[in-house]
Amino acid sequence: MARSYVREARQRGLGRRRERVGPIVERLAEEHSDARIALRFRSDLELLVSVMLSAQTTDTNVNRVTPALFRKYRKPEDYLAVPHEELEQDIYPTGFFRQKTKAIRGTMRVLLEEFDGKVPGRLEDLVRLPGVARKTANVVASELGHAQGIVVDTHVRRLSQRLGLTRHDDPVKIERDLQGIVPRADWARFPHLLIWHGRRICDARRPRCADCVLEDLCPSSRLRSSDASGRVRAGRPSRAG
Ligand code: SF4
Repeated sequence: MARSYVREARQRGLGRRRERVGPIVERLAEEHSDARIALRFRSDLELLVSVMLSAQTTDTNVNRVTPALFRKYRKPEDYLAVPHEELEQDIYPTGFFRQKTKAIRGTMRVLLEEFDGKVPGRLEDLVRLPGVARKTANVVASELGHAQGIVVDTHVRRLSQRLGLTRHDDPVKIERDLQGIVPRADWARFPHLLIWHGRRICDARRPRCADCVLEDLCPSSRLRSSDASGRVRAGRPSRAG
């Protein structure tokens, strides 16, 4: 289990999780007003395929492949009309191309057989598609405007732990903790805010706490000494909220 900052936050007088999460969302929304999914897509189907391709690789890498891919494959039938090896070749640069080809073709079959060729919006339908796990389903549902859970990726996991919003390490348990404190209206944008904050400020190895808008709300801030009372150290810029 990860080091728990949940109790530390309380001991340092930073307030309860539920009380801190509102200001955390507000400040991050102001700081990262451009935080949104980095994958590029123009339809529900392109969204689904992009998210499936993004497993174990970067969004940038996926965005390099998809313009040509989506010009060639416009509807579910197109992914089934070519030989298996041809699709493998077309998505090769995204890595794990064999598993991804199998998953994409399996998914296209189910879309055609059970969903009239359309991408379903319900989480329980999305997770029935081959190769679509809960995280992928959550991303797709959120982007379609039907967030039914909270996406937990590596940044969301790290920041939720550091901010003392969960004491768990398992993504399913982290998601459950977050669902209990993040207002439902923020379920879609919350992961984007943490992801962008993780990329820009709260790096895994070198968090830039001195530049962080959450510093006075964060029990793992490196600007605090281990015996600090929880008060913000003198000299850091004050933040509203
Ligand atoms: S204060 Fe530091 S550890 Fe806490 S969220 Fe900000 S950068 Fe991350």
